[in-house]
Amino acid sequence: METMFQPSSVQAETEPTILIVGGVAGGASAAARARRVNERARIILFERDAHVSFANCGLPYVIGGEITERDKLLIATPELFRERFRIEARIRHEVIAIDRVAKRVTVKDHATDRLYDESYDKLILSPGATPIVPAVAGVTAPGVFTLRNIEDMDRIMTGLAQARQAVVVGAGYIGLEMAEQLSHRGLEVTLVELQSQIMPFFDPEIAEPLHREIERNGVRLELGRGLASIETAGGGVSGVVLSDGKRLAADLVLLSVGVRPNVSLAADAGLRIGASGGIATDDFMRTSDPDIYAVGDAAEYVFGPTGEHLRVPLAGIANRTGRLAGQHAATGSARPAPAAWGTAVVRAFGYAAGIVGLSLRAARAAGLPARAAHVVSYHHASYYPGAAPLAVKLVYEDGTGRVLGAQCVGAAGVDKRLDVIATLMHLRGCIDDLAGLDLAYAPPFGSAKDPLHMAAFAAQNDLDGLSRLIQPAEDLSAYQVVDVREPAELLELPLSQAPHAKNIRLDELRDRLHELDPSRPTVVSCRSGQRAYFALRILAQNGFGELYNLSGAAAMRDFALYRKSGAATETQVELPRPEHLVDRAR
Ligand SMILES: Cc1cc2nc3c(=O)[nH]c(=O)nc-3n(C[C@H](O)[C@H](O)[C@H](O)COP(=O)(O)OP(=O)(O)OC[C@H]3O[C@@H](n4cnc5c(N)ncnc54)[C@H](O)[C@@H]3O)c2cc1C
Repeated sequence: METMFQPSSVQAETEPTILIVGGVAGGASAAARARRVNERARIILFERDAHVSFANCGLPYVIGGEITERDKLLIATPELFRERFRIEARIRHEVIAIDRVAKRVTVKDHATDRLYDESYDKLILSPGATPIVPAVAGVTAPGVFTLRNIEDMDRIMTGLAQARQAVVVGAGYIGLEMAEQLSHRGLEVTLVELQSQIMPFFDPEIAEPLHREIERNGVRLELGRGLASIETAGGGVSGVVLSDGKRLAADLVLLSVGVRPNVSLAADAGLRIGASGGIATDDFMRTSDPDIYAVGDAAEYVFGPTGEHLRVPLAGIANRTGRLAGQHAATGSARPAPAAWGTAVVRAFGYAAGIVGLSLRAARAAGLPARAAHVVSYHHASYYPGAAPLAVKLVYEDGTGRVLGAQCVGAAGVDKRLDVIATLMHLRGCIDDLAGLDLAYAPPFGSAKDPLHMAAFAAQNDLDGLSRLIQPAEDLSAYQVVDVREPAELLELPLSQAPHAKNIRLDELRDRLHELDPSRPTVVSCRSGQRAYFALRILAQNGFGELYNLSGAAAMRDFALYRKSGAATETQVELPRPEHLVDRAR
């Protein structure tokens, strides 16, 4: 079968002409792999811009000065493609039409404006995506930028020279990275986001520690407001007006409100566009025309947690599927593309945060019976110097325990936890698998019970009914609430929106049971969840029927409700110290 993977066939004797549209993440990977498996293929890479194979993920760090040599982003040049790979990389050549019947593309050479045709046996599309530019007044003014490629980066670097005040519109990954980097450059930065939190695909309590870290570093947040217009003066930007009428002075505006997949070439050629707006693909990244492949930001992937076909505009999957498509086009054989899990991580000053799979909000919106457990801990053994705070949120399916996703935020060790969960999800693991993982441990690296183990234990206890969890933002007004912390801790971090909570220290609980009503649904809380678990087990064995542990306890509740409560009235804590000294065993 031509599509089955045959190791012996990963080297072809045929001489196909393989044309590739787009010469960066997916396209360059496809070209290089095609050559490695087929020395005889004729391979031409078309790139409408001036650079092929550059590291677009590194662009913000050149702008901020962390990467000091711009040219380090230029991973391969047309010369390297020609000399090492015998691949023709034609820069400033744009493919403008596909004739699927004649198996031919029409190309525009932007240097000469010449149009010409090129025939193919196999065609690979990796045209990427284009930053969305909101249709507001002033958006074309000098000083207003988007960031996608080297040219954009160079323009921003030029604009930076005169700039003092920047407004970054849109607080996704690129917006966050740029807010940080512009701040590193000494600009006064405001980050504007239409949703009520940055990184809108995170659950709120995971975004909140980032909010605080960003504000601590002097970047102003304007949440829940969109961009209404851009004001100009003297031929450049002078400010922005937000949807609530607020005006912010600015001499540099970066628009990072998302990207639109470049699918018009494919759509005009009659290729099927999927429900998520990307080019529909099969297991081998073939489009509805088996001689045409699509990868990267413009393509659809099977999203593992739900099985839906979705766009996943991230670099890793573009590179890996580019490689796959390159091989399949060159040999007719490849291993099928695995599902995408949307694993992503971002840094904001001293914190990192990331997600794999579904947030709780997204899982429930997808109709899944999802539950979640929070753990507030350290990135390595608490007693070893340098232990940094880390919070994990594990999302899993009720009944089956299938892991649906995880989010992580903290000052260190975030990427490691995300990657473990990504691996587990790739292998279709459940919380029992996570609880049993034999992870590397010595005090400088982790804990004997890693935060991921602790999250899995909490999830197991939840599903086993040993310690049922409720979510941090739950309305507690109808519950009897017991807070088992030391009184001094309550002053430092009150239990948000629970003025009726009764404070009984864990160590006194057995002696003061008579102060509580065992017939009432009861929620137990502490600082981060551990003492509440111990308390819950005491109550459960003393006649209390309906008991819940507030997942992530006062810390996560504070994060979850802080912005909702109109802010500023409540204590703002950093990720708190976990209750490691009480007992580590769950
Ligand atoms: C600033 C920035 C930071 C990022 N950081 C991260 C990160 O940290 N982690 C992560 O996972 N992802 C990150 N990404 C996303 C990642 O870069 C993309 O997901 C990835 O580049 C997509 O690969 P692609 O091949 O689909 O598109 P691209 O890499 O954008 O390549 C598409 C190329 O096709 C060309 N093209 C389009 N149409 C035509 C045509 N008709 N003819 C010829 N050429 C054409 C375009 O000019 C473009 O150069 C970042 C992106 C940006 C912009």
